[in-house]
Amino acid sequence: MKLIDLIRQERFSLSFEVFPPKTDASLADVRAATTEVARLSPDFVSVTFGAGGAGSRLTLEIAESIHRATGVETLAHLTCVGADRASILGYLRALKENGIDNVMALRGDLPQGMSAADMDAAVYPHASDLIREIRAFGGFCIGAACYPEVHPESANQAEDIRRLRDKVEAGADFLTTQMFFDNNLLYSFLYKLREAGVTVPVIPGIMPITSASQVARAMKLSGSFMPRRFTSLVDRFGSDPAAMKQAGIIYATDQIIDLFANGIRHVHVYTMNKPDVAGAIQSNLLAMLGSSL
Ligand code: FAD
Repeated sequence: MKLIDLIRQERFSLSFEVFPPKTDASLADVRAATTEVARLSPDFVSVTFGAGGAGSRLTLEIAESIHRATGVETLAHLTCVGADRASILGYLRALKENGIDNVMALRGDLPQGMSAADMDAAVYPHASDLIREIRAFGGFCIGAACYPEVHPESANQAEDIRRLRDKVEAGADFLTTQMFFDNNLLYSFLYKLREAGVTVPVIPGIMPITSASQVARAMKLSGSFMPRRFTSLVDRFGSDPAAMKQAGIIYATDQIIDLFANGIRHVHVYTMNKPDVAGAIQSNLLAMLGSSL
């Protein structure tokens, strides 16, 4: 099933992101955790694409096993940095053979020491090139990434939004955002996107921060602005794991309620493969989820 049909529905809904193992050694544990996340019956589960040789195979294995065990639709991520055409087409064929109709098309982070200019000679220098390839292959619903706080390689937001428009013109059906902790940044971003003529659905991505150590990692990964309301919570509860977990779940829930109250229908939760966290957020929203608008 194409996700765009789920995303467009007139009701509040959630989807969850999980990640594959780095190696085969932890495949069984990751498969168990990600299947448990999927058993919560979100609208769909996305499976990230890991760097390194086994990346595509392990993403495919997790996406396929979730789909087979739970019937939940999956969105398989795919990065094109350093990829050749044969490997991309091989991955797309394997997705189709495994009943996966949805791809998140990404460039991926540049390997250390490489600059954007070094990518000019690549087969797919930008995500828009990959999106064009997937569209030509046919039969997929395509998602792409967007950045309410601007991609770190972009000179400014206007430039970033122009590039984002290229991705939509190349064939992206919907966009999912990088994590953010201040909803006002998302609202201002959405306004600018609509002004620039980008009208495809935008799914906000919410990361529940449930431990103090996760704060530094999230900052490094996304460079997100941490509002005072959020940093005080980490200062106050960061040294108490149970309290921090509860506070992080409530903060993420509060962000989602505010999004629902302000016209967003579908939210993607970065679960970090934690079924208990995903389940707690979902049950906090139970009376809202599924209700028609
Ligand atoms: P692009 O859209 O190609 O953009 C990268 C930069 O190039 C931007 O600054 C953009 O403005 C600029 N640009 C784009 N087109 C052009 C052009 N034609 N000329 C000049 N500049 C241009 N990473 C993974 O490794 N695996 C994952 O599974 C994964 N999942 C993600 C999911 C989401 C929702 C998000 C937000 C990010 C994810 N990432 C993942 C991280 C992502 O790979 C990185 O942020 C990467 O640096 C950029 O990928 P992109 O697809 O946004 O690239």
